[in-house]
Amino acid sequence: MTKNSSPASLLIDQFSRTITYLRLSLTDRCNLRCMYCMPQEEQDRDGQVKTGRFLQHSELLSYEELLRVVRLAVSQGMNKLRLTGGEPLVRRGILEFIQQLFLLKGLTEVRLTTNGVLLAEYAQRLYNTGIRHLNVSLDTLVADKFTKITGREYFPKVWAGLLEAKRLGFKIKINVVAMKGVNDDEFLDFARMAVEQPFQIRFIEFMPVGEKSTWQKEQFISSKEIKAMISGVGTLTPFQKRHGEGPARMYDLSTPEGKKGIVGFISPISHHFCDQCNRLRLTSEGKLRACLLNDRETDLKVLLRGGASDEALIAAIRQTIMDKPQGHVLDQEFQAPERQSCSGQMSRIGG
Ligand code: SAM
Ligand code: SF4
Repeated sequence: MTKNSSPASLLIDQFSRTITYLRLSLTDRCNLRCMYCMPQEEQDRDGQVKTGRFLQHSELLSYEELLRVVRLAVSQGMNKLRLTGGEPLVRRGILEFIQQLFLLKGLTEVRLTTNGVLLAEYAQRLYNTGIRHLNVSLDTLVADKFTKITGREYFPKVWAGLLEAKRLGFKIKINVVAMKGVNDDEFLDFARMAVEQPFQIRFIEFMPVGEKSTWQKEQFISSKEIKAMISGVGTLTPFQKRHGEGPARMYDLSTPEGKKGIVGFISPISHHFCDQCNRLRLTSEGKLRACLLNDRETDLKVLLRGGASDEALIAAIRQTIMDKPQGHVLDQEFQAPERQSCSGQMSRIGG
């Protein structure tokens, strides 16, 4: 094999970033209605509660189609996969799908992002498939506030899911979207949790994403501010080396009593990480997207259902990677939110 035809070289973009990480949004449906993600529920004329429009099952890529795309991407050098959504655990057949994924040679990691609502129920079976890493999204530790943020009274379920996943030995990261006036009074509690529990805590800057986003500048709080707030818990020492933690900047946290934990900051607005971005996303409707924050997409579903050959699909994946934007402009949108470059729905794109 010549140097240029080695699999990995196919997945290097024009800015020399090697793309090894694919995120699949398995469904746009969800059992929560987070205020910043899902279109809000409205009552129609007959008093029925509606939440925007979800994709029909036939509009989603089937598991066979997903497996084909993943197999081809892996054959070209992709080796990590994250399953997300919407809420991936609400899609029927997910466990069998994960088992199939683990049979693909070259795929070294399959991880899952979940809101945790169904985790207690699924944890053992997820563990049995081979999954070892979970990202659980949880913005508050207060049950009533959880209901306000997510529209559902499921805090006890999520907490039970976390405890069950911990008992089984999963590596768990908790993602906290930081919102001023909503959960900034709990950042210290989350930081303490990082030293009390075997959970890494990652604070995510609130992003203006999606047509119906409820994002407001006044709610934004930067990673720098969060870091200052939680420094009351202990000393934060930056990781010397990056090892697969993606866009998060990670810190060891050690308390005066000698307890240790890990916290991270994902700062899409205040600190671009585009130069290190190794990701490609497949939306729940089968569109390949090279940047979360840029609406440019390649419609793989049309190709898949139009009888495209493996070579044609590989060419489409490769072209999408070549066209991956150098960076996003969220910081400019922060000043002028009407110029939003990501109008896609977070639950379809996969966060
Ligand atoms: N349902 C799963 C969950 O909540 O973990 C997976 C999908 S969700 C879209 C993935 C992640 O995106 C969650 O951690 C969520 O908090 C985050 N997210 C959604 N909208 C966001 C926004 N506007 N700014 C920052 N993070 C956001
Ligand atoms: Fe559902 Fe996750 Fe979106 Fe919340 S953030 S509505 S849990 S997809």
